[in-house]
This record gives sequence, C-alpha cells and structure tokens, in this order.
Amino acid sequence: MSANAEPSIFTRIVAREIPADVVFENERIIAFRDIAPKAPVHLLVVPKTEAYRNAGELAAGDPALLAEVITTAQRLADEHSDGEFRLVFNTGPSAGQTVFHVHAHLLGGHLPEGTLGQ
Ligand code: 5GP
Repeated sequence: MSANAEPSIFTRIVAREIPADVVFENERIIAFRDIAPKAPVHLLVVPKTEAYRNAGELAAGDPALLAEVITTAQRLADEHSDGEFRLVFNTGPSAGQTVFHVHAHLLGGHLPEGTLGQ
C-alpha cells in the first residue's frame, strides 16, 4: 500500500473483501474479469503488490514481475480465447487510468480492426 492511501480496489479483491470473477491466481499475480468489459474477453492481470502505480514503475522496479504479467496474459489468452490478444497498460488519468495499482488489460476475442482503443 502506498503511504498515504487506502488499499486499492485491486488489493481489496486480492483480500477477497470485494468479490471478483477470478480466473487465475498465484503468489504474485491475480487475474479476474473486468467489471465493465470492453471486449468479448476482457481480463485484468494484476500484480498483487500495489507498490507500483503503472507499467513504467513496475518495469523499473521489478522487471521479472512485469515479464510474468505478460506470460500470464499469453496463457490466459490461450485458455479464454484463441491466443491472440491486445495488452493495454493505461498510465495516467489523461490516458484513462482510474486505478493506480498497476494492471494490464487483456483484450481478446474479436476486436475491431484498425483501432488501438478499447
Ligand atoms: P484503468 O481505467 O485504471 O486502466 O482500469 C481499471 C479497470 O478496472 C476498469 O476497466 C474498470 O472497469 C475495472 N474495475 C474497477 N473496479 C472494479 C471492480 O470492483 N471489479 C472489477 N472486476 N473490475 C473493476
């Protein structure tokens, strides 16, 4: 938890204080369905630690954990879709970030062509 904040909503999901449709969990990562899906498959792949607010901080602080987020995303895309996916790390409010606990949006299924947006 950051020094001046309440536990993030994702930390509360890890603690099972808030229900979620969890599809994967190990010691360091949890993945669950986004509550407001923007694609046929829309999972959030989340390091359990909330020490990192975004992907850049995670890359600098624990690159192995960032790599595990990505390999987990591939495995989940294999299980829940056809193995093809878009991975989105929103960074900052102007990019649409609303939860400042690093997480990857795994978007799969049939995505619209020609756009990077959700
Ligand atoms: P961001 O906007 O920070 O990149 O992504 C946050 C995501 O978390 C959003 O897509 C939002 O729908 C999702 N989200 C927010 N609160 C909850 C919740 O309580 N449960 C689940 N499953 N997803 C949530």
